Amino acid sequence: MSYQDFYQQSIAHPEVFWAKEAQRIDWHKPFEQVVDYSRPPFASWFVGGETNLCHNAVDRWVVKQGEKTALIAISTETPDGSPSEKTWTFRELQQEVERTAAIMIALGVGKGDCVLIYMPMIAEAMFAMLACARIGAIHSVVFGGFAANSLASRIDDAKPKLIFSADAGSRMGKVVPYKPLLDEAIRISKNKPQHVLMVDRKLAAFEHMSGRDVDYAELRAKHMEASVPVTWLKSNDISYILYTSGTTGTPKGVQRDVGGYAVALASSMETIFCGKPGETYFSTSDIGWVVGHSYIVYGPLMAGMATVMYEGVPIRPDASIWWYIVEKYQVTRMFSAPTAVRVLKKQPPELLKKHDLSSLKALYLAGEPLDEPTSTWIAAELGVPIIDNYWQTETGWPILSVAKGIEDMPTRVGSPGVPMPGYRLKLLNEHTGTRCDNNEKGVLVIEGPLPPGCLQTVFNNDERFIKSYWSNFSTEQVYSTFDWGIRDDDGYYFILGRTDDVINVAGHRLGTREIEESISSHPNVSEVAVVGVEDKLKGQVAVAFVIPKDASTTSTPQDKKQFEKEIFAVVDRQLGAVARPSRVYAVSLLPKTRSGKLLRRSIQALCEGRDPGDLTTIEDPNSLTQIKDALES
Ligand code: AMP
Repeated sequence: MSYQDFYQQSIAHPEVFWAKEAQRIDWHKPFEQVVDYSRPPFASWFVGGETNLCHNAVDRWVVKQGEKTALIAISTETPDGSPSEKTWTFRELQQEVERTAAIMIALGVGKGDCVLIYMPMIAEAMFAMLACARIGAIHSVVFGGFAANSLASRIDDAKPKLIFSADAGSRMGKVVPYKPLLDEAIRISKNKPQHVLMVDRKLAAFEHMSGRDVDYAELRAKHMEASVPVTWLKSNDISYILYTSGTTGTPKGVQRDVGGYAVALASSMETIFCGKPGETYFSTSDIGWVVGHSYIVYGPLMAGMATVMYEGVPIRPDASIWWYIVEKYQVTRMFSAPTAVRVLKKQPPELLKKHDLSSLKALYLAGEPLDEPTSTWIAAELGVPIIDNYWQTETGWPILSVAKGIEDMPTRVGSPGVPMPGYRLKLLNEHTGTRCDNNEKGVLVIEGPLPPGCLQTVFNNDERFIKSYWSNFSTEQVYSTFDWGIRDDDGYYFILGRTDDVINVAGHRLGTREIEESISSHPNVSEVAVVGVEDKLKGQVAVAFVIPKDASTTSTPQDKKQFEKEIFAVVDRQLGAVARPSRVYAVSLLPKTRSGKLLRRSIQALCEGRDPGDLTTIEDPNSLTQIKDALES
């Protein structure tokens, strides 16, 4: 079949198309209706059907290939960086998941309860996710790099009954304690979990809160023989919540279903990622991000593949570590982000030649724009196709890519590709809402219903779902991606950056408002503007301009440095180092419109050495001089 036929069928006859794709997974009870779109923009997929993600990822494969490898956990966060490795077969994975599920049940967790997972990249984190899926608990994984306030806002929104965590993570061989941050988050949050289940890696001593904190190893020992059957879930039950940044300071809980997600992953694993049972898949992402959910945990396992969970950085013990993994475990499909590739590009080139990479068939890159030099370099080094794919936490699987599993379509440098099945894409003029012509820049939107696998709603907030995503054009109700895009004459799309205040640092999405709110909590901050500025390595970095309450505290260069250090510390403590701006500049004025709106795009343009654009509404042009002077100082 050609890509065109495949895609057109998904658009012209979605019910036929998805009913067929749905046969890729096991259903406990068949669905009665492919899609219910009687209440737009809310779509329900595979209505009446019952299934389970853990069954499809694990149990199903225990029957077919129980002794084949399912999970390979590798950590280079060891004292000298040498890899510590452990593997589990599908059967062993099932056992561990059942043990963890039994622990959760013993702690009072049942169907529909939320379990917050705040864990480093260790196997127990995967057991926890799959255990939740098994018993119908809703998991909410919070990236280990986030700190107390980020964590607290998620605890408040998700109201977890149980938090699953560990004493510490590690980065570049340096221990990063988790427990003090977690304790602080629970202290400041309004909703206290009944229990905190701790994996004690013996990396960092921690305070044990009796009655609340329980030890994973101790409980596991009691449940070694546990047998926990799968709880069959309605296709539209909630599988998980994953928080992501938006334009406000409060993160949005992206809520996903069970059946639609399972079908979308099973379908994309074959049509986009060309995964085959028995092969090995290696995604370098983290379970705290959507790529980790879809293409470290659920997708590869659902395709019967062994999946690699890697704790560590790409350059320790040296920059050949990923290629060591590829050779040793015969990885066929690898998934990473452009920033990581740019990091590798700076390393001695011989490290890429140290290992036999003949098993590798393709490298998939996503999360941020893929620039031509990075793409060309890694393609030449690896000698395999580099496949860009564009999507969002909200969609759960690629919107744009090339479906090599359907047709060996050529990729086009600078473009993530063409629409994936079920995505009715349009580019609309920002002001008029009319359709853009080919080669004309517009806002990339998706017509409802969103295909299976995409968010059902914002957790506990249908109104926010409609308001944030579906109300950006008065002309029609469409889902906005908040990305600028352009389509060429052959139907390839190009992504040109965000239309909102969200920035993308090393493939990690951050809301400038969240960072601003954190900085504002410093006692000497009167006003602040955070913008995303182009960066050669990370794609973008956050830069902050701050008006101190007491200007005399930032009069000398040393004072300014000290002030910057204090701001860094506030952000590190509240949000985590991942959100720390690369620079903080003290100014006495910020560029605003006469109605008081920050002119972020103008500030950003100045930071990038561009023209600040339309300034007819600016309140005080001196503010721009201040920004320029600060940048030159
Ligand atoms: P996240 O939800 O954190 O995955 O971030 C999604 C955002 O990252 C998108 O809205 C885009 O702005 C950006 N993004 C993701 N993948 C790509 C890609 N392949 N090319 C360009 N931008 C991308």
